[in-house]
Amino acid sequence: MPAPALQLALPVPLPTLFDYAPPPGHVAGPGDVGRRLRVPFGAREMVGIVAGLASVAPESPLREADGFLDDQPVLSGELWDSLHWLARYLHAPLGEVLATALPAALRRGEPLPDIADHGWRLTEAGHTALPGLRAGAPQQLAAWLQAQGESSELQLDIAQPGWRAPMRNLRKRTLVEQIDIQAPPVPVTQAGPTLNPAQRLAADAIRAADGYAPFLLDGVTGSGKTEVYLDAIADCLARGRQALVLVPEIGLTPQMLARFEKRLGVPVHALHSGLTDNERARTWWAAARGRARVIVGTRSAVFVPLPEAGLIVIDEEHDSSYKQFDGIRHHARDFAIVRAKALAVPVVLGSATPSLETLHNAHAQRYTTLRLTERAGDAKPPRVRVIDVRKRPLQAGLAPEMLAAIRAALDAGGQVLVFKNRRGYAPVLLCHDCGWSAHCPRCSTPDKPTPMTAHAGGKRLQCHHCGSRRPAPVACPDCAGLALEPQGNGTERIEELLAAQFTDVPVIRIDRGSTQRRDALQRHFDTLGSQPGILIGTQMLAKGHDLPNLTLVAVVGIDEGLYSADFRSGEKLAQLLVQVAGRAGRADKPGEVLLQTHHPDHPLLHTLINGGYHAFADEELALRDAAALPPYAHLAVLRAEAKHVEAPTRFLGEAKRLLEEVSGGDAGTLQLHGPLPAPMPRRAGFQRMQLVISAAQRKTLHQVLASAMPAIRALPDARKLRWSLDVDATDLY
Ligand code: ADP
Ligand code: ZN
Ligand code: ZN
Repeated sequence: MPAPALQLALPVPLPTLFDYAPPPGHVAGPGDVGRRLRVPFGAREMVGIVAGLASVAPESPLREADGFLDDQPVLSGELWDSLHWLARYLHAPLGEVLATALPAALRRGEPLPDIADHGWRLTEAGHTALPGLRAGAPQQLAAWLQAQGESSELQLDIAQPGWRAPMRNLRKRTLVEQIDIQAPPVPVTQAGPTLNPAQRLAADAIRAADGYAPFLLDGVTGSGKTEVYLDAIADCLARGRQALVLVPEIGLTPQMLARFEKRLGVPVHALHSGLTDNERARTWWAAARGRARVIVGTRSAVFVPLPEAGLIVIDEEHDSSYKQFDGIRHHARDFAIVRAKALAVPVVLGSATPSLETLHNAHAQRYTTLRLTERAGDAKPPRVRVIDVRKRPLQAGLAPEMLAAIRAALDAGGQVLVFKNRRGYAPVLLCHDCGWSAHCPRCSTPDKPTPMTAHAGGKRLQCHHCGSRRPAPVACPDCAGLALEPQGNGTERIEELLAAQFTDVPVIRIDRGSTQRRDALQRHFDTLGSQPGILIGTQMLAKGHDLPNLTLVAVVGIDEGLYSADFRSGEKLAQLLVQVAGRAGRADKPGEVLLQTHHPDHPLLHTLINGGYHAFADEELALRDAAALPPYAHLAVLRAEAKHVEAPTRFLGEAKRLLEEVSGGDAGTLQLHGPLPAPMPRRAGFQRMQLVISAAQRKTLHQVLASAMPAIRALPDARKLRWSLDVDATDLY
């Protein structure tokens, strides 16, 4: 009997496992599965995960693993099984899927974090020195600690984000000391509002669920969906189970965490991109050990281990940030549902504008629909009015009626949100003499120029696709004329106009350019307070934050979205409009939404305004059905890109031939479109091609992919160019 070898999953783009001899002195056994170990790979070292055991002939020369990193598996149980499922579903290498699921620090081979609950307090010297400390982050932290007496690191994470650097500074001066906290202090709980009958009905249905039970919580903005989640989570905690809450990237604010913590009375663990690798690893491992009972996180939190799971919530389930657009292209909502099934727990999908996929599942009775049709408390739904701007004089793209409405709202003491789905100063820099305009040299083709966006009042050009920046030319490169002028209107230009017109109120622009940091957004809101003022923003403002004094939402620049080629653009635009409109009149003040367009008769606007989101969704579902598009068909996109278009075209052509071969060339089961240039045919100097693969049955798609992918991976071009397979692609980009 030869000694068993270890089969390792390694983070390399090959769909195989790698056999290694166990480290010296170790006899491999089933208990090794899921453990991390360091191994030589080529000339490098890598961290692998034991995926199984292999018996090998004694004479076959195997490389020897260096050693285990831990004395226990880091991946096991349901998560282990679900990740195997995910690798099969995405037709992706297991090693890459496992590496994606692990927090970066653990992927790199760093030790498992210490999750004992540490805390901090001032030393004697700290108390004495505090009054004399220079103003700054360390002084602020010290003052906060004094007021608290002592604080756990968990509390610090929530109340004092970024506390570690100033704490190190204080510790160096022996002004603070680290302490062990016996039991994490339970914050004072605060009762929420009494649920209204619709909320009560929904919450009770979730409480009554036993085992896997998917719910669509279909509730208009401000209807109190969060209160229903909190009720269900509290019940889950009372049953001694863990809860996972997924939220969109920008929905995870310190205010939201504080609200959860106060209401639930237990520490709430956050997972998002603003944390350090160590913080993420700590939360992940705390969940794996059952220490973290409530985890609230963005897309990657779907990979958190939940040994004692009781509930999964996906807030704003339609949000596009749940889909990963590079690497392992998973969809966090869909994987969360798969996990809920494996874990046999209820899963709640909440939204005011459910995705068509989810509505389709609800219509087919796969999900139970819970409805909240009215706003909670006294808030009234906003009134929506369309302004036809054809032939109207516009200033920075705003119609006179719009400016008048803004003035009126401010005079009545309200706040105004101007929503524009395009940041920057102006979309293009145009020469009035010869018609030349600035295009990105790395993203344009002769047929399809990609404009660069003018920023900084027209002095700087930036490509929003590849990120390249350059100063704007002083004179036209074609005719040497000096008549270069920004055309079109971005948020910067609107800000300029409104600041000049409304000098009596603050005018604050909020977009990715002005708001890099998570807490910056809140600081903008704090600056404004409840006084009259204007916020100008892109979709960052479409959700999340409560702005009780907001009475007018002015929507401009939606016209491009009405005629986009992407089959999902209508759905996305409708969701965006409804979500932005939902910002208005959240509290007791009635709200109004003004929508400015050159296409007041467009069917999407017509249906949305007269019938609401669900009327729109019904029409759109019928169109998708007729056109055999998702959710009535299942898509995968094979993409390839290279400096020259020949290699991607050849690779996708070969792939197409292989797919046709395994599907038996039966066009009734599998449709192949392409190879064709991607909707954005060039980016950052690369020519981009795609092959769209679709099938009426999910099973057909996966059977064909499973048979063809090994041969596609083995194509000679596969090693020479960048390519990817995107199962359930949400965007054809
Ligand atoms: P959603 O998540 O649906 O947008 P929230 O749960 O955030 O809505 O609730 C919107 C607002 O209404 C919040 O300020 C919340 O405190 C309040 N609210 C929710 N439920 C009730 C209720 N039953 N009674 C009074 N106010 C409520
Ligand atoms: Zn010119
Ligand atoms: Zn570019």
